[in-house]
Amino acid sequence: MEYNIGVIRGDGIGPEIVKEALKVLDGVCGRYGFSLNKTEIDMGGCSIDKYGIPLTEEAIRTAKAQDAILMGSIGGDAKTSPWYKLEPSKRPEAGLLSIRKELNLFANLRPSVLFDELKSACPLSKETADKGFDFVIMRELTGGLYFGERYTREIDGVETAVDTLSYNENEIRRAAIKAFDIAAKRGKKVTLVDKANVLDSSRLWRKVTGAVAAEHPDITFETMLVDNCAMQIVKEPSQFDVILTENMFGDILSDEAAMITGSIGMLSSASLNDTKFGLYEPSGGSAPDIAGLNVANPIATILSAAMMLRYSLDQDRAACAVEDAVKQVLKDGIRTGDIMSEGCRKVSTDEMGDAILDRIQGP
Ligand code: NAD
Repeated sequence: MEYNIGVIRGDGIGPEIVKEALKVLDGVCGRYGFSLNKTEIDMGGCSIDKYGIPLTEEAIRTAKAQDAILMGSIGGDAKTSPWYKLEPSKRPEAGLLSIRKELNLFANLRPSVLFDELKSACPLSKETADKGFDFVIMRELTGGLYFGERYTREIDGVETAVDTLSYNENEIRRAAIKAFDIAAKRGKKVTLVDKANVLDSSRLWRKVTGAVAAEHPDITFETMLVDNCAMQIVKEPSQFDVILTENMFGDILSDEAAMITGSIGMLSSASLNDTKFGLYEPSGGSAPDIAGLNVANPIATILSAAMMLRYSLDQDRAACAVEDAVKQVLKDGIRTGDIMSEGCRKVSTDEMGDAILDRIQGP
């Protein structure tokens, strides 16, 4: 079996962390009997330097021809980088917005996992941290309040601002189907988070998602109001498997869920469309402050690659092998600087990649 993957190394620490993820992917695919045909794609600051724009038509065409894309991170230091003297539509981040649109990536997946060995960094109570948690937030990415009609004007002599929160049943259904697909590969539970006691749009989410749930009797389905969910994430995060929610609620809850893990260098993410295709990247940025120093933590990118194996390539066993190797490295006390603690061995970016590769178990 051969898959085509696009590789966006990006800017800052991007090339360093992507190199380690590719090293691990090459190791795991050899052992699990498949191969990866990799194509480099320029995006962000490095594309500006070469072509004057953050994403070319050629890059978009190449991206569309892949089974999945693995990405580092893009962007630079906004105060010192010449990229930020350009108008906003020509800056590195515009490339990311444009690729998401071109590839129709409507679902964003952000896992929130507490690794046993990193429990001391978790800001929750010891009792809650001891129970651990492993859930994902699936946020609708292209609709809702951020994309609805908006204006500020004087109405009856009073300055008034209006933002519109709109969803149609098709947008909701494709997100719900995706969430149930994800849950089928995980803990088989979907929690729809909304504000159905107030909002019409939330009531439509409940109706449409409820109908999708009826087609998946093997998956537990529940609903929760967003204010309660914000509390439950800090009180009892172990109850969640897949949280499905609309754009703005997901924006806020996914940052809350990231904080409780206590370590940005460990957080993976994916943006998906209604095929198997996905764009996989670490949640953090390009960390210009540590770029080129070989100290960045590559684990978030390596875990993003594991998600790519599971959700885009259906190589679930290989994905588990990568995740188990990461857990083993942490158990063995190997740490990059950002997650260093007493009694552990501090390693560089490439040593961390090597250590994970060494611990990949065969089938
Ligand atoms: P950042 O996430 O790059 O850095 C915040 C802090 O976390 C820094 O101290 C950094 O050193 C640290 N950090 C981040 N990733 C790390 C890792 N893997 N290992 C160790 N430490 C790590 O956020 P920022 O400084 O606000 O943004 C820098 C640039 O990244 C900006 O240009 C921003 O636009 C861009 N950005 C890109 C993406 C993306 O590519 N999807 C996402 C967020 C920010």
